[in-house]
Amino acid sequence: MEISRMDLADLGSPETLVQGILKQVPDMPIPVPIEAIARAVDITEIAAIGASGFEGGLITDREKSEGVILVNRESSRRRQRFTIGHELAHFLIPSHLPQEGTKFMCTVSDMQESGTSKAMDRATRMEVEANRFSGNMLMPATLFRHDLARSTAPDLELLLGLAEKYDTSKEAAARRFCELIDTPSATVFSKDGKFVYAVWGQSFPFIPLRRDEPIPNGSLTARFSGSEGDLSNMDAVDGHWWVDVKPYCDRQLLEQTFLQINGYRLTLLQLDEEEIEEANEEDDLAESYTPRFRRR
Ligand SMILES: [Zn+2]
Repeated sequence: MEISRMDLADLGSPETLVQGILKQVPDMPIPVPIEAIARAVDITEIAAIGASGFEGGLITDREKSEGVILVNRESSRRRQRFTIGHELAHFLIPSHLPQEGTKFMCTVSDMQESGTSKAMDRATRMEVEANRFSGNMLMPATLFRHDLARSTAPDLELLLGLAEKYDTSKEAAARRFCELIDTPSATVFSKDGKFVYAVWGQSFPFIPLRRDEPIPNGSLTARFSGSEGDLSNMDAVDGHWWVDVKPYCDRQLLEQTFLQINGYRLTLLQLDEEEIEEANEEDDLAESYTPRFRRR
């Protein structure tokens, strides 16, 4: 793979940088070969190392003429792919400079930084941009949107399928899914019935839960029982279990949950009036069938 860094030199935002790379590699394979891209732009080595509290790093010189990317060897390959994309952004975005020296060291929470607040400090902004680059590079918007549009049911099954297709973690795919899907959506990560974190698209209301708070007991996520790998149906639930802003808390929303290993659950929440109505009609239908059946 050949990529000219010269042609990328004036592209300062994560999105334009990804566009610039895609322009030079129009037939980008999926899953995106992130390591080959890194090597094409002067990353000489990608090394897996062990160090606690660390997820990725970049060692470079002042001019960023070349660099070495470090990834946490304990992390899954899919996480490592996201980390490589993240460190590559620190390398390619001219305004990204390490706090001190010539070394970036990034933590797990750096890899989760998102948001659009103008008030964020310089260091946080760099992490947010690095994550945006990695998500955009691994899941190019045009292709990902096409996959979403082609689907008849934009649900968790689709999300999990897209994580497979693009070879990314469920978290990274969930973030991209919520960003690019037309239906206002959020995804919630929980463990052993406690909230871990959530990501949501712009048109989905804020979820006022904090880390380690219990998952609301009226939610499908709290009520659904099954075993690892089980996926619930998409069901309508009262909005107030998840959100507290009007009018959403007085309405219903759609909820679906996936049981991962070790007590982790991935939950999808969506605002879709038509689908909510349909889900309720199906419930009514199920109820009205029962007595009729009994009469016979
Ligand atoms: Zn970073």
